[in-house]
Amino acid sequence: MARPRPEPGPPGPQAGPRRPAARPSRVTSDPEVKAVFDGIAASMHATPVYTSGDRDRPAPGGARRSDHLAARAQDGHVQGHSDAQVFAHLKANPALVPARGYQVIHHGPHTITQGGHIHIGRAPDGHPRHSGPSQFLVEGLTPQTRGIYTVVKVAKRG
Ligand SMILES: [Zn+2]
Repeated sequence: MARPRPEPGPPGPQAGPRRPAARPSRVTSDPEVKAVFDGIAASMHATPVYTSGDRDRPAPGGARRSDHLAARAQDGHVQGHSDAQVFAHLKANPALVPARGYQVIHHGPHTITQGGHIHIGRAPDGHPRHSGPSQFLVEGLTPQTRGIYTVVKVAKRG
C-alpha cells in the first residue's frame, strides 16, 4: 500500500527555481582545481582539508562574483600545517599552481570571510583574469587589512 506523501511545506523567502542538489558542496566539482589543491597538500606530505567548494550564492563577506559561484574554487587547509605555513610554501614553490588564471588567497585570522583559510580558484573562460598570470594575495592578516586584498606575488609567465 502506498503511503500518502507528506505535504510540502510553505515556500520560504528563498523559494525560487530549483538549484542543483550538488550545491553548496565542501569540495569543488572542478577536477583541475581539486588536483591543484590536493597537489599542494601532497607536496607537504599531508592531507588536504576541504571547507568549501561550489556555492550557489556568495558567502558572507565573500566576493559577489566569486570563482566559487562558477564551481572553480576550493577553500581549506592542509592538515598539520597553519595556513601561513601553506601560503609561505606556495610562495616559495609557485609552480605548484598553474602559471595563468589562478588566484591563491591567504585569508588570515582577521578575515572578512567566515574564517581563516587558503583559497585556490581559477577564473572562468572569458574572464579578464583567465588569461592573466596567476596571483597570490592576502586578506585579513591583521585587523587593519580586514576585507583588503593585497597581491603579494605574481606568477612568472608560463
Ligand atoms: Zn574561497
